Amino acid sequence: EEYLDRLRRTEPQIRSFLHVSETVMREAEDLDRLVESGAELGPLAGVLIGVKDNICTVDMPSTGGSRILEGYRPAFDATAVRKLKEAGAIVIGKTNLDEFGMGSTTEGSGFQVTANPWDVSRVPGGSSGGSAAAVSARQCAVSLGSDTGGSVRQPASFCGVVGLKPTYGRISRFGLMSYASSLDVIGCFGSSIIDAAIILNAVAGHDRFDATSSMNEVPDYASCLISIDQFDSKPLKGLRIGMITETMGDGVDMGVVSSIKAAALHLEELGAVLTEVSLPSFSLGLPAYYILASSEASSNLSRYDGVRYGNQVAADELISLYGDSRAIGFGPEVKMRILMGTYALSAGYYEAYYKRAQQVRTLVRKSFKDALETNDILISPAAPSPAFRIGEKVNDPLAMYAGDIMTVNVNLAGVPALVVPCGFVEGGIVGLPVGLQMIGTSFSEEKLLRVGHIFE
Ligand code: GLN
Repeated sequence: EEYLDRLRRTEPQIRSFLHVSETVMREAEDLDRLVESGAELGPLAGVLIGVKDNICTVDMPSTGGSRILEGYRPAFDATAVRKLKEAGAIVIGKTNLDEFGMGSTTEGSGFQVTANPWDVSRVPGGSSGGSAAAVSARQCAVSLGSDTGGSVRQPASFCGVVGLKPTYGRISRFGLMSYASSLDVIGCFGSSIIDAAIILNAVAGHDRFDATSSMNEVPDYASCLISIDQFDSKPLKGLRIGMITETMGDGVDMGVVSSIKAAALHLEELGAVLTEVSLPSFSLGLPAYYILASSEASSNLSRYDGVRYGNQVAADELISLYGDSRAIGFGPEVKMRILMGTYALSAGYYEAYYKRAQQVRTLVRKSFKDALETNDILISPAAPSPAFRIGEKVNDPLAMYAGDIMTVNVNLAGVPALVVPCGFVEGGIVGLPVGLQMIGTSFSEEKLLRVGHIFE
């Protein structure tokens, strides 16, 4: 009741949700009855969770933030959602996003613009802006998002919450609407590291419906946090932390740089050994990401033809049925990505764009591998600026893309990264949150969560 009440009060300004479940109270009452009967409850019993609307839910609409899927109700739950429900969680609703995850502010939703709870004249970040804002405004306890190039980490930073982008393949993508399949991961938001660890426990693991999901064993992410010795004054003793040089210079907000430096100092006080590490291929990641992501998107989005799912425009012949459904259903950013991707993959251009981007991807992967041999974790800001104003960058796609510089390399490398709130910069009403990004080797979520928890 408390969450639903807060949601009702705050939603007119924040607009995090595209759909709010009508069965929350009924599900909670069912749980009450279970408690009374003495039945064993799951680890997430009664926890209210928001789910990004590009993740399929059987009993609710799932639009991916696109008009082309208006009215679509999937016949199945995404594996991550199914597992959360099995653990007792209650889905409170579906959260807003940039159409199909393409964007960095949630202004690219086909339905509504979400506001940042810290200052409603600002963006919550994106594309999982609804999921981040909902946790930040305490409209739900935790939420699921997806991260193809930073869509969990950047909104976590803008909204002052914890955001985890796991290793590629750690969580099944079954039921996640594909944007760029080689980069997409499901991630989660919480108001603390423990929240994120508990959600990861519930959703991680192999799934026979997703061939790219990993067979690696799933550790107990939450219990590894409990074993931390609270009386140790140097709990991070000897941990080698590399601050990525290229993320702390030109084009990065001064306030963000000083918050990250202060966070690094705090890590040192806790016993970590801090050095600077240069990743020379860092700036190449951005153009490579946009070529690869658009190329994959142009292929993935061909399934939306007005026949298989959602909205269909009435037409006299098949070709115009496809054309008109897509012309009306897709927003401008999605159309631009399809065109960019189709161009990059065309005969004659393939070598110049797609192939070179793949070569850059190999370089980026290697540079992370090398840097993570001499360092246990790497740190950087999660975004080059704090939350900016709604409307500020909508007409400047290149400036918008440039804002993803801190996050896209991590997806190209497939490694995990955790964002923790680490300070505030001046701005907004009470200041604007800044997030610290911690990056580790593949399947090192446990380590990242431990460091994040100690830092917290
Ligand atoms: N802003 C990036 C993009 O538009 C990343 C989005 C994401 O991670 N889904 O592609």
